Amino acid sequence: MSQQGYVAAPPYSQAQPGMGGYQGGFGTGPAQPLYGYYGGPPQAFTAPPTGMMKLPVSSAAGMPPPPESSQYNPNVHQNGAHHQRYPAPPAVSASYGQPLQSQYNSMASSAPPPTQQLTNQMSAMNFGNYASGPMQSPPPVSSVAQQPFQTPPPSAMGQPQMPPGAQSPHMSPQMSPPQLQPGNMQMAGQPMTGPPMSGPLMSGQPMTVPPMTGMGRPFPGPPACQPGYPQQAGQFGGNMAGPQPGMPGAFPGAPGGLAGPPQKKLDPDSIPSITQVIEDDQGKQGGKVYKTNLRGQVPPLVTTDFTIEDQGNASPRFIRCTTYSLPCTADLAKQCQVPLASIIKPFASLQKNETPLYVVNHGETGPIRCNRCKAYMCPYMQFIDGGRRYQCGFCNCVNEVPVFYFQHLDHMGQRMDIYERPELSLGSYEFVATMDYCKNNKPPNPPAYIFMIDVSYNNIKSGLVKLICDELKNLLENLPSEEGMESSAIKVGFVTYNKVLHFYNVKSALAQPQMMVVSDTAEMFVPLLDGFLVNYQDSRAVIYNLLDQIPDMFADTNESETVFVPVIQAGVEAFKAAECSGKLFIFHSSMPSAEAPGKLKNRDDKKLVNTEKEKTLFQPQKGVYEQLSKDCVAQGCCVDLFLFPSQYMDIATMADVPSHTGGSVYKYNNFQVETDGEHFLRDLRKDVQKSIGFDAIMRVRTSTGFRATEFFGAIHMNNTTDVEMAAVDCDKAITVEFKHDDALSEETGALMQCALLYTTINGQRRLRIHNLSLNCSLQLSELFKSCETDSLVNFFSKSACRAILNQPLKNVREILVNQTAHMLACYRKNCASPSAASQLILPDAMKVFPVYINSLMKTAPLVGSTELSTDDRAHQRLAIMGMGVEDTQLLLYPRLTPLHNMDVSSEALPAPVRCSEERLSDSGMFLLENGHSMFLWLGQASPPDLIQNIFNLPSLAHLQGNMCALPELDNPLSIKVRSIISGLIEKRANSMKLQIVRQKDKPEMLFRQFLVEDKGLHGGASYMDFLCYVHREIRQLLT
Ligand SMILES: [Zn+2]
Repeated sequence: MSQQGYVAAPPYSQAQPGMGGYQGGFGTGPAQPLYGYYGGPPQAFTAPPTGMMKLPVSSAAGMPPPPESSQYNPNVHQNGAHHQRYPAPPAVSASYGQPLQSQYNSMASSAPPPTQQLTNQMSAMNFGNYASGPMQSPPPVSSVAQQPFQTPPPSAMGQPQMPPGAQSPHMSPQMSPPQLQPGNMQMAGQPMTGPPMSGPLMSGQPMTVPPMTGMGRPFPGPPACQPGYPQQAGQFGGNMAGPQPGMPGAFPGAPGGLAGPPQKKLDPDSIPSITQVIEDDQGKQGGKVYKTNLRGQVPPLVTTDFTIEDQGNASPRFIRCTTYSLPCTADLAKQCQVPLASIIKPFASLQKNETPLYVVNHGETGPIRCNRCKAYMCPYMQFIDGGRRYQCGFCNCVNEVPVFYFQHLDHMGQRMDIYERPELSLGSYEFVATMDYCKNNKPPNPPAYIFMIDVSYNNIKSGLVKLICDELKNLLENLPSEEGMESSAIKVGFVTYNKVLHFYNVKSALAQPQMMVVSDTAEMFVPLLDGFLVNYQDSRAVIYNLLDQIPDMFADTNESETVFVPVIQAGVEAFKAAECSGKLFIFHSSMPSAEAPGKLKNRDDKKLVNTEKEKTLFQPQKGVYEQLSKDCVAQGCCVDLFLFPSQYMDIATMADVPSHTGGSVYKYNNFQVETDGEHFLRDLRKDVQKSIGFDAIMRVRTSTGFRATEFFGAIHMNNTTDVEMAAVDCDKAITVEFKHDDALSEETGALMQCALLYTTINGQRRLRIHNLSLNCSLQLSELFKSCETDSLVNFFSKSACRAILNQPLKNVREILVNQTAHMLACYRKNCASPSAASQLILPDAMKVFPVYINSLMKTAPLVGSTELSTDDRAHQRLAIMGMGVEDTQLLLYPRLTPLHNMDVSSEALPAPVRCSEERLSDSGMFLLENGHSMFLWLGQASPPDLIQNIFNLPSLAHLQGNMCALPELDNPLSIKVRSIISGLIEKRANSMKLQIVRQKDKPEMLFRQFLVEDKGLHGGASYMDFLCYVHREIRQLLT
């Protein structure tokens, strides 16, 4: 290798193009909304036939020319075409129609009833609670927490209605047990104020929350704090975060109204179960085809395995909503406090049997757009005037149809070519973008990937550098490419660094790679233009040579200091010089302490936990990091960080750039090649091969009456409407909150269009469009019926994780609880049949919502425990911000699957059980995973043959502590267990390291913190206790 040493070339000081380089329409500001009556009849929408239009998005050759009718031949494809109109809001879904069952009989039985039966009861309990008559529109339940995460918590939280165990004298009566018998209501000494009970539904149907019940003794005063748990503040949030007085541990026993001895522990099956909800939905909708032709249709759960057919609305893989029926007015929205939000995953992976997006090319004119609001042509445009004009579904503006786009209308008033044009009949499709959508009016170059390896002492010593270099050879062979292309168009480059940066010239003409060192990191530049970013196929030999040499070159290094900001700056400069976007893969092991821009100091301070200043632990250092994020986004430079820390490294700051550029942060504490190597490589492989778009900018347009106001994600925003992402991959989701600015109409519903302008991995500029239509209703019952708990939970997770940057955790937790209580109280007040206040009545679609919120408050960022590392907390906070609905669901409710008693001959996965210690058994083997961690738990009485079959060991005692993979044994149980584990690792966005824990061993603590229905290991209530607390809050709101 030749080394040129310090190269004193001047920095490439090109002016930064910035995002302002876009000309023409994309970023055009929104026109003033027009509040006129939407003149057309409810939009007719005809479902396209199955299997039409097979033009996969990915083939450049398959790109449609400016569309002609012959291209999609309806005669060929339209077999079985049928016409459907957007119907009125769909009928009540089947789950609400289940017959009522008596719950009391089974609840009173001494043996726990079968889970299935109980779930039916839960559904039944909720049945009929939707008011069938006219809605009452009472005044808002309370003004508490109506502006979540913006204002300090309402003072009411600190007041008498406060937490269990707060030793207010007011507490006793409130905590006195409600009665189970409907006829025996003593609501904390207050008379029932609601309407009198009536009707058959009342007779004991709704659920009664038991723990507050029956024992007739007040909750005990606060016991002394248990050792090892942090002292919590006195307010609710604090109480929730610790095994505090009154709540956990004070659980009084069986409900008095039930049969059985008073001391008998309540059957946990009697409270709503997530595993049951998941299983029921899978049973009902699993394996089926879900067609998106209905407005406001609630899709199957995110956990259900189903196939989606786009028939005019975006697939739920791309967009999910917190509710599919928006309240018509801002007042109703305020009253119910259900956030109105969409979770958009623009690049979501589709199943193999689902049709990839079609690409539409309108030639030089570019996509057809509404003159006023700039919405793109879509199924919500109403063609009129014999097809010569169309009315925009978003702003109602009437536009001329361009001559080349004209088409006659049929007798239904629809264009004759509706099924030949994806943009007229589908929810999602792409447009080829014209020069107007390109920076500087030039077509973009294909993106580049730069691999930047920290070669300081630790990484060399651990063997990490060699591991990376060896793996890169495989990875580079598998760079993503457009379907139909022989090889990837992505260019690659290589940098190593410690205190200085080493650039490598790997031009194909060279016999040996050349190294150039830049030691002046104060003003970063790239010392070579030609030969730094190359085509891998052309330069394979030189690159192999380089990768073989790197570990040896630094084998004797003593350098332990590193720089960090200059590394990213170098990447940005390289992309700038090559006029491309791309991604940096940075492999880094320590806090950047070398003298250079972005140098960091250890500012970790556990004393700040549970104080007003705790938020500073999550706040990134400003200055150079802030500017760096902007520079990266402007250049389309996404940063992925692979971190290998052995101590605190200020992840809040170091991960700031990835979290604003659509990047990911992976962390391997105390990395060891033997135990963590494979886990890390799996992550790296997944990451490199992800489907991804670069240099992206997204706009969400809505029909009149509401608009997008808040955006959460790994994004950057320069203004209030354009979401900028240096890159967006298949796992990143942007959560968008909507607010009313006028009334919505039940007749026309509400429309949204998400348009994402981006550069493909092939270097083509495209627009990806996702459309979705929702219902609107004046009935809150419709809203609650159309809620989706998993999406709500995603919204709350992200808004809470953003809020802790600016507010004490205690406030954030309080707001979460308050808002939960408010939503449920609003349902109870407006939608449920009148019933005893001692009965907790939950909307069917939200019945497991409290489990998730309780689990959210026990996550590392929100729990406020000094036992958790600041970096782990910051890392998880940032990860949550970019998550989609599947990810937050799994994070907050891990899958706990028994493996000891499964049918090894069956293809099916065993059914998961509830995340609670009670579900474990001493002789059992359980797999737990949440998308980030994976445990194989073994009961201390595991039978020897099970241990033999899985580990090839005579007994559990022989098991080594650091095992992270199962031996490959040739017996059915071993084969099945390993196949389940590898299947899950394959399926999830991240790799997971398998940790094997024995019951009662110390590492079991790590496992137990994921049993989210139990009391939190680091603080936080059990599900049962939390539900009781929420119930009490609801009762107070209703009195
Ligand atoms: Zn418009």
